[in-house]
Amino acid sequence: MSAFQHQKGSLHCEDVPLEAIAKTHGTPTYVYSREAIESAFLAYQTALADRPHLICYAVKANSNLAVLNVLAGLGAGFDVVSAGELERVIAAGGAADKVVFSGVGKTRQEMQSALEHGIRCFNVESESELLALAEVAEQSGHIAPISVRVNPDVDAGTHPYISTGLRENKFGVDAGTARRLYQVAREQPALNAVGIDCHIGSQILDIAPFLESLDCLLSLIDGLAADGINLQHLDIGGGLGVSYEASAPAISDYMAVLSERLGSRGLELILEPGRSIVALAGALITTVQYLKPSEAKNFAIVDAAMNDLLRPSLYNAWQDIQAVTPREGKSLDWDIVGPICETGDFLGKDRTLALSEGDLLAVMGSGAYGFAMASNYNTRPRAAEVLVSGDSAQLIGKRESLNDLWQREIIPENLAR
Ligand SMILES: *Cc1c(COP(=O)(O)O)cnc(C)c1O
Repeated sequence: MSAFQHQKGSLHCEDVPLEAIAKTHGTPTYVYSREAIESAFLAYQTALADRPHLICYAVKANSNLAVLNVLAGLGAGFDVVSAGELERVIAAGGAADKVVFSGVGKTRQEMQSALEHGIRCFNVESESELLALAEVAEQSGHIAPISVRVNPDVDAGTHPYISTGLRENKFGVDAGTARRLYQVAREQPALNAVGIDCHIGSQILDIAPFLESLDCLLSLIDGLAADGINLQHLDIGGGLGVSYEASAPAISDYMAVLSERLGSRGLELILEPGRSIVALAGALITTVQYLKPSEAKNFAIVDAAMNDLLRPSLYNAWQDIQAVTPREGKSLDWDIVGPICETGDFLGKDRTLALSEGDLLAVMGSGAYGFAMASNYNTRPRAAEVLVSGDSAQLIGKRESLNDLWQREIIPENLAR
């Protein structure tokens, strides 16, 4: 059941009316359900209860400290892609030894910091990175635990911007190169090969490409074992999609299929889910400012924009938009657009709604890659964030003030002539 339901004619998150949150905190505001986050995480956890596993939540999907804290409380590990994300995890009470570090461009400084924190594993994406890590580890007297990110060359059938497992993508290395990199790593005393990983993309609505990748990793693992290299974990990445529109596979079904294919292998299974944990746990609430009907198009101009929620503009993503308090009256087809000076600034197109100025709308499925991708474009402060649990709603991210926006900027004294 969704955490967002209409009760007595008004949309609630758990037991809190979104109207009440808008009244207290204003709009635009992101609202997250704690229960929904926890139950998605536990769906992974429970399904894998009888095999060694670690669910490393992908921090980039939603990196609010309170969200990370909720997940850390359930024993989550974390997948980070920057030193900043690692520091966030630690600030939120997460354990560094459950962190895997992904990304094609880790800097030496980031490697150093992650080594000092004692992370679980570096997911290495190239030979140059492998050698840089060996050097940094050796110079600082650490042994770096590593995994090589394999690009299994499978078509995940998702949007090209979020497809990462094809040969032409920048991520990982092909299977042959991976096998060679483990030999290179073996020659480096400061590297310890502990695992193997992949991540083929995001919003994947079919389990088959994950199985294809798993088979690719398993055959590599067997090849490496024949070379005398025995790995302890297999990290299948994130990427399971959610039902924004079409229906997505259930987490439990995906886990059942993975588990079956792994059979009696004693490998620890690591997963890096982001979207499937938080996307449906969040909504962005926004107020209709102006209605602008015309012959060609009807526009509803709202106070949220592409700087708050980029997915529709960036990927042409479809997210459901609901009236918080549906009204009687004639429905029209509306394009729901923000105030930003870009034609690409829309949250949804052709939505059939009965609207009046001042109405509240909720953009559903906004918990992942929502606030995390927000910017200050057009000098717009970033939205507030609220976490709901039962009948309580707590502010977990303050709305930025205008002053915040130019604090870091400097007018040099000699600039004026
Ligand atoms: C983005 C990313 C994830 C999370 O992907 P989702 O689709 O949000 O589950 C996991 N691993 C890596 C390496 C990523 O880049």
